Amino acid sequence: MSSIKQGLKVLMGVLLLLGVLGGLWWMFYVQKSAKKTAKGIWQNNADMSINLEKVYGMDNVVPFLVLGSGPASLAAALYGARTRIRTVVLKGNQPGGQLTGTSYIENWPGIRKIRGTEVVKDCEDQAARFGALMVSDSASSVDLTRWPYVVTTEEGKTLRALALFVGTGATPKKLGVPGESDFWGHGVTTCAICDAPYHKGGSVVVIGGGDSAVEEALELSSYAREIRILVRGDSMRASPSMAERLNQCSNVKVIYNRAVTKIYGTDGHVSSVDVINTSTKEIEHWAGVGGVFLAIGHRPNTAIFKNNLETDDMGYILLQGRSQLTSKPGVFAAGDVSDPTYKQAGVAAGDGIKGGLDAMWWLSELGYNGPTEEKMEPYFFDPRGDNKVEVEQINSVNDFEDVLKKSKGKLIVVDFYASTCPSCMHMMPVVQWAATKLADQVVFLKVDAAIAFDLVKKFRAPAVPYFVVLKEGKPVGETKEVMDRSELYEFVKQYLK
Ligand code: NDP
Repeated sequence: MSSIKQGLKVLMGVLLLLGVLGGLWWMFYVQKSAKKTAKGIWQNNADMSINLEKVYGMDNVVPFLVLGSGPASLAAALYGARTRIRTVVLKGNQPGGQLTGTSYIENWPGIRKIRGTEVVKDCEDQAARFGALMVSDSASSVDLTRWPYVVTTEEGKTLRALALFVGTGATPKKLGVPGESDFWGHGVTTCAICDAPYHKGGSVVVIGGGDSAVEEALELSSYAREIRILVRGDSMRASPSMAERLNQCSNVKVIYNRAVTKIYGTDGHVSSVDVINTSTKEIEHWAGVGGVFLAIGHRPNTAIFKNNLETDDMGYILLQGRSQLTSKPGVFAAGDVSDPTYKQAGVAAGDGIKGGLDAMWWLSELGYNGPTEEKMEPYFFDPRGDNKVEVEQINSVNDFEDVLKKSKGKLIVVDFYASTCPSCMHMMPVVQWAATKLADQVVFLKVDAAIAFDLVKKFRAPAVPYFVVLKEGKPVGETKEVMDRSELYEFVKQYLK
């Protein structure tokens, strides 16, 4: 009997000990993990072998690499830079993102009315003031199967990111109808701000029923004689406050249940369209239409993340819980690349802040701090040492004559741009790249077409962007095309032969 009692006592003791150990385990491990999970930023990273030790000695390291320069990216960069973490922003092919293609914004909290371009400029300046390094380059591929994450740029750099923020935004959708690609940039466009002045007194159609369609029509209303907004369904999606503004424009008409099925052109420019009545299926030919403005939504820019990050069926990056964490540890996203619902600049900026904070917490939990940074700093990627050739801005025919005298027979390429034109902004880093690459043989100049009227007249610049190539001061080539690096390179090279 006493041996049974003794046995029970031992058993009770063991159970008590297990209870105490369990309590301690819960307090120190489960609670800590719960905290991490609550932030939603930590994931099992055993398969990625993520530890700072292995980074020491690697070159081109970027502790916080931000892809894109719209409001989401610049907000994330601001938070990275303010934490004094080395933050590098690859500005991408459309610096400033889609905001550079809108006219005025009236829903940026705290500011009654401001130009989209000003918002991004202010955001960029603010992040740069805290030390974020802005780089005019784009990610051309990413490898997220190994850590540090490898990002290759269009200029051929290989960067190693400890934490990555994806804010690559979205690109306007196209219709996919015959004639659209043939006349792209020659009447078919997504940018009324850029092209509206070329439709003075003309008749144009705007396709879509959202806020963008209204915005395009409003921009066109000061120039075109007749603007018809074609809505494929029987109602508009645009917010009432935006749609109401159309009432003040007598030259804008909204036509429901209509869609463009074919675009025709004469002399290389849009001249008419086929329009289907989506209820009766009848097709009409509308002659005398000189412009087709597309405002039919956007597609997320996630091509380079295919097979790297989880996306939904439409290509939007999927996020974990209430955080901005993607399917990969240390990779965060915000803005139109991951938001199929709200798509607002203010929301993008807010989510960008969340992404920036998530990234800072993630780096901190990884053990990234002053001493670890000190060990890595000599190997950081630093764009400030690049010997880029700046493209000279000229503002008058006199300026041009001066450059011509100094050019010593080199080919001259003049880039006509407008600061409100997204295609022009897309071309800026491309032109700078070409100016650096061809510095020995070519002088690149830029002209703000909204300021330098005598140069616009001299070279008969018909639109922006517009490039004119000059040999000994005489025009030998021109193009209105929006080009990538290799296309611009090939275009200029043909005149060097
Ligand atoms: P939306 O997705 O809101 O609207 C797209 C429109 O295009 C819809 O009317 C849609 O029709 C139509 N559409 C789509 N595909 C086709 C097609 N193949 N043929 C014909 N029509 C088509 O996009 P938006 O770019 O207008 O707006 C996106 C977001 O940005 C919104 O949240 C908007 O509020 C915001 N925004 C805000 C602005 C501001 O405040 N200043 C300015 C511009 C945008 P359907 O309805 O039938 O699908």
